[in-house]
Amino acid sequence: MLRSTIVATLGPSSSSPLTIRSLASAGCRAFRLNFSHGSHDFHKSCAQSIREAEDEVGHPIGIIMDLQGPKLRIGRFDDGKVTLMAGSKFLLDLNPDVGSQIRVKLPHPEIFNAISSGTHIFLDDGKIKLKVLKNDGHTIETDVIEGGVLSNRKGVNVPDVVLPISALTEKDKTDIEVLHDITADWVAISFVQSAEDILYAKSFINADVGIIAKIEKPVAVEKLDAILEVSDAVMVARGDLGIELPFESIPAIQTRIIQRARYHSKPVIVATQMLESMVGCHIPTRAEVTDVAFAVGCKADAVMLSAETASGDHPIDAVRIMASIAQRAENDGLSFLEVSNNLTAMSRAVKAAVEREGISSVVAFTETGRTAIEISNSRVNARIIALTPNLQTMRRLSLVWGVTSLMIDEIFSFSQMRQVVQDVLIQHFGGVEGDRVALVAGIPFRASGETNVLHIFEIAPGPI
Ligand code: PEP
Repeated sequence: MLRSTIVATLGPSSSSPLTIRSLASAGCRAFRLNFSHGSHDFHKSCAQSIREAEDEVGHPIGIIMDLQGPKLRIGRFDDGKVTLMAGSKFLLDLNPDVGSQIRVKLPHPEIFNAISSGTHIFLDDGKIKLKVLKNDGHTIETDVIEGGVLSNRKGVNVPDVVLPISALTEKDKTDIEVLHDITADWVAISFVQSAEDILYAKSFINADVGIIAKIEKPVAVEKLDAILEVSDAVMVARGDLGIELPFESIPAIQTRIIQRARYHSKPVIVATQMLESMVGCHIPTRAEVTDVAFAVGCKADAVMLSAETASGDHPIDAVRIMASIAQRAENDGLSFLEVSNNLTAMSRAVKAAVEREGISSVVAFTETGRTAIEISNSRVNARIIALTPNLQTMRRLSLVWGVTSLMIDEIFSFSQMRQVVQDVLIQHFGGVEGDRVALVAGIPFRASGETNVLHIFEIAPGPI
């Protein structure tokens, strides 16, 4: 049983209902719909196929709506592209004319208000590097440090600058209008710069979805704890992170993000280029295998595939192989990070009970999923089962390490709870007489925020 979650990004290679079902059967428990690409109709049709696949595979599947955020881009060129030579000068301005060998439009006035001489600007995923010589508020004059071919609408990164822009663009706000149509369980916010960005997104989205902060800017790494406090989960978005910061800093930053996420008891996804060579090849490199195993050994909640499943030639193999690497890393007991020293009293008690009392299953009654997340955060060596009357809670929990969710009816008494736990274990998990179980719940029923009961008992078939 795989404890870490595999997230697959959908795209042209994987949007057919049959492929989506095969991805789910191969081990994918959550799908990312990437709103940087694709029409609303495309995403709605993917979401519908995911929900059909969910019925067929018989377990909840999470849908992550990944918003594009303030992705900066240059304008267009006369001939579609130019070649910038190292040592030459290049201008970025607000002039709407098509670009040339000496200049191109940068349609983001905020940058002209924020950038000063000495700052670096990166173009086309960091391949081209410019250094700002002068900025008069309308034209930025730069020195080309690393040259190369620059074509229409390439991305722009300004890592040294905190830009006075919201993490939600007008496009994001329009995209959020289809949040309910695509039955999203999580919304990922791109280019987060502060905790306020997340609070703003929460106030705007105002729905029963979890908010994922994508950590991809140096300032977000600096403010990680504050961002984690207000987010529901985080993503180590290594693609942009590796442009905004030297790529050799990624391993330490990734490890720190996982460590801090576990300190704050927030699910963490490791993303981008995990099996990149599988875009074109049916097997991964040994380095990629080790990368996935390292993330799993750090006990990240989830590992994510991007181009491998969205546009690659082997989407189903990529999921299957990622699942087998993750399973092997778990079976081999790879463990690179200590359990957080910031567990709740209940999580500590559950962990101690499992270690000392031979408990094989921890069953949590949960409305919002929080109790299951807290127990998962102790990375306890027992099956964790979340019982909830809320379908969306089940789907959200698909992202969380080691949690299996099941839907239950409303509960009215403690003995009913014990009976439900016993029935669930016998019917769904091969439970037999004598198995020791930890039941975790909050009493009084339905009062959120209180997880105050840990009850240990043995399965004894028949009515309780
Ligand atoms: C990333 O940058 O790693 C990422 C996950 O975001 P996107 O794919 O949207 O660029």
